Amino acid sequence: MVANITSIRHDFPILNTKLPNGQHLVYLDSGASAQRPQVVIDKISEIYEHYYSNVHRGVHQLGDRVTTEMEAARARVQTFIGASYPEEIIFTSGTTMSINLAAQTWGRHHLNAGDEIILNEMEHHANFVPWQAIAKERNATLKFIQLTPDGRLDLEHYHSLLSSKTKMVAVTGMSNMLGTINPVEEMAQRAHEVGALIFVDGAQSVLHQPVNVIESEIDFLAFSGHKLFGPSGIGVLYGRKALLETLPPFLFGGNMISEVHCDHSSWANIPARFEAGTPPIAEAIALGTAIDYVSQLGFDTIQEQEYLLSQYALQKLQEVPGLQIYGPQELEMRGAIFSFNIEGAHPEDLATLLDRKGIAVRHGHHCTMPLHQWLNITASVRASLTFYNTTEEIDVLIDALEFARKRLRLA
Ligand code: PMP
Repeated sequence: MVANITSIRHDFPILNTKLPNGQHLVYLDSGASAQRPQVVIDKISEIYEHYYSNVHRGVHQLGDRVTTEMEAARARVQTFIGASYPEEIIFTSGTTMSINLAAQTWGRHHLNAGDEIILNEMEHHANFVPWQAIAKERNATLKFIQLTPDGRLDLEHYHSLLSSKTKMVAVTGMSNMLGTINPVEEMAQRAHEVGALIFVDGAQSVLHQPVNVIESEIDFLAFSGHKLFGPSGIGVLYGRKALLETLPPFLFGGNMISEVHCDHSSWANIPARFEAGTPPIAEAIALGTAIDYVSQLGFDTIQEQEYLLSQYALQKLQEVPGLQIYGPQELEMRGAIFSFNIEGAHPEDLATLLDRKGIAVRHGHHCTMPLHQWLNITASVRASLTFYNTTEEIDVLIDALEFARKRLRLA
């Protein structure tokens, strides 16, 4: 474990509180939503206690302060993902909204009958259904990259799908079910060779590994604040400036206009064009604080801790009788997300029995129904870890799985 893990855990008050039944919480559900450090919680209180008001409107001092802070948060996001301009950062309500925004505005403007979008079956529904919907609307076709038996993208098959008809490749940086890390940079290069764009769903990847949209040639990137140790209700859509400038608005209303007349309206420049209405103000500012926290901790520490945890979890889980882990077994190809089933046990029963021991995991299809169909299962249990977890917590999980097996008369 990294040396300062105890002090890191102290940054997250919820990790040190007791559950309603008095048990100690073992939080293994950060893939669904991560916990927040005290600095983020304090920032939200500070805003509401001292200077909350609307942004980009009043000339009063509060409006001025909050607007300055929100724009500073935008600049932090820009630096965090290596974007060239702050206006390439659009604040949304989350990854889902970011993908819908991009799919709708780009799709209606650039997608025509016969064009192709490349997807794959490991995508979260958020990076699947919006593309399916716009393809249907525009008479475009979806093509699916085959998965290898261990749950990676078959790159040779990907290359064979690319053609002058390909207009968009939508891919997750990291699978929220298999933990697979996808080779986004290489995929982007190949997409660009045929004139296509790449959309990266960074909901799971941006918190585990550094991203640089310029070096990786990413055209669009989406992620959520709540998985990045920030507030819920805030997300980001990054788009290359030249690309965003070609796109019409998605939502209409206040803030996104240049002029409004009775018979026509014109649009504001980016990013305001895509930020209709009052944004999630405190959430956007506190996302900046979360990014500061992650940056200060550093990806070296985050990755070192997650690698050690993954190594330990993989080894221990594999020793549980009847347990099958999905996704790549090589640590280099996966993040700290482990979905599994135990032969003879229903995932919901397992999750319920784990909860009796204070362990929070997720069960179900994890918004990846096509992937579960591909795996020929209806549901699984998912333990998703991050840098604030410990090997002791994995031991608690393993003991609790043994307890569950006994309760379910599998042992
Ligand atoms: N993509 C992936 C890979 C995810 O894990 C999630 C969240 N589970 C989403 C998209 C959707 O994120 P949100 O619910 O924050 O919009």
